[in-house]
Amino acid sequence: MKLAIAQTLSLPFAYNSPVMVLDFDLGDKDSNKITGRFKDLSRPRVFSFEITKKSVVYKPFVARTDSTELDAKSWEDFSKGYSYRVDSQGLRKEKAQCVKPTSYNCGSICINIKKNCKANADDDFSEERIDKLFKLRRYYTDKLLEINPSTQREEETLLEEKVREVSRLLKPYNDRQKELEKQKQEQIKEQRSRQIEVLKSEAQSKRTQLMALSNELDSNQKISSDARIKASVHLEFDDPESGIKRDLKFAESVALKLNKNGQKEADIFSQNELKIAIEAKKEIDNILDKARELIKVEKPVDIGVAFDSKNVRKPDEYKKGLEMFSEMISVPNLKETLEVKETDSGRSYYKQGAIHMANPDPATIIHESGHWLEARNIQVRREVKEFYNKRTEGEPIVKLSESTGDLYEDYEVTKVDKWLHHYIGKFYGNQPSSEVLSMGLEMMYKNPIYLAKNDPEMFDFIYSVVRQGN
Ligand SMILES: [Zn+2]
Repeated sequence: MKLAIAQTLSLPFAYNSPVMVLDFDLGDKDSNKITGRFKDLSRPRVFSFEITKKSVVYKPFVARTDSTELDAKSWEDFSKGYSYRVDSQGLRKEKAQCVKPTSYNCGSICINIKKNCKANADDDFSEERIDKLFKLRRYYTDKLLEINPSTQREEETLLEEKVREVSRLLKPYNDRQKELEKQKQEQIKEQRSRQIEVLKSEAQSKRTQLMALSNELDSNQKISSDARIKASVHLEFDDPESGIKRDLKFAESVALKLNKNGQKEADIFSQNELKIAIEAKKEIDNILDKARELIKVEKPVDIGVAFDSKNVRKPDEYKKGLEMFSEMISVPNLKETLEVKETDSGRSYYKQGAIHMANPDPATIIHESGHWLEARNIQVRREVKEFYNKRTEGEPIVKLSESTGDLYEDYEVTKVDKWLHHYIGKFYGNQPSSEVLSMGLEMMYKNPIYLAKNDPEMFDFIYSVVRQGN
């Protein structure tokens, strides 16, 4: 824009000499004037100008000491120069200097500095140039309007107002949707808490039936009293199966040793011990079968199991544990597969959708699958967390190695509570995992009677948390 104004001002009909535009004002949108100041490029002279569609008007611009009088010093500086003409053929003809210090060149004449020099654009070429300049001015004023901050703010305000209007109109609808969603969530919550109440009383009756099983044993006259006592003692602990297996192994090894020595009395003794252990084991298995039946769900869910074909050579070994696990839970929408891998690290673990097994022991499979379930179902996870927090409220965090005296890593900590094993309270910080469900399911499998007898609250919780479906 500056350049276009300078070019117009330099035209032969106007100042007729190269100028530099110092500043300009395009006026408002409807104005037909361009005003500003320019400097003669070869002389230290500054003029103010006004360009209209018909003419160019300019006069010397000098700083004023006051509002009425010209500054004498400035005017002296100004008067030292003189103007010259460049005609349309490009030939330079020097014009006579305006001798009087109070006059300046206006075209071919000298005029008083107080007067305006008015030059009309009366040839086609000049008219065309002025026309172009005003088109450019138009373009500029439009553009300026577009980027005018106040206009922009106005538009923004309008837009914001529209947004507010729309959200105001939509508010009843949105509120309704929110309300419906809230109601739906509350309904689900209520439904679940009613379900939990039912499950609680169901669990209570299961506990009664489990106690009845152990009482039945005490009055069972079909087995020897020695076997009955042995079985009963083992059933008082969390893992009767392992306990009786140890007894059996011991009796067998003693019998083997004594047999070698050929002592008849000893032989009778060992035969008897072995017989009792076998009988007790049979009874324990029998009772555990019945007890496990009691804690199975009505409608087990289908769990998609995938074996890592590279390292699981005998998938059948895992069948018993996986089958039992699926029969212990009723949780809908378990879409992700349970991947089974083998690890030679010595300790089984769960990680990212896969259980890594150190052995195919059913209790361990159930434990690790419990981690899988907790990771895969948000409702289960929520309830586990709630239960954990409720149980461990106000409990300090302590090292597992110190609280149990067993070998645990230093980072493994727990909240002791009244858990049957300190490991159940293992504290995972902000991680969404726990040992509550895994240990609970494992204990539920190993000996439901033990869990029911020693931690009925935990028994009832595990019983209900894995029953999310029917
Ligand atoms: Zn675990």
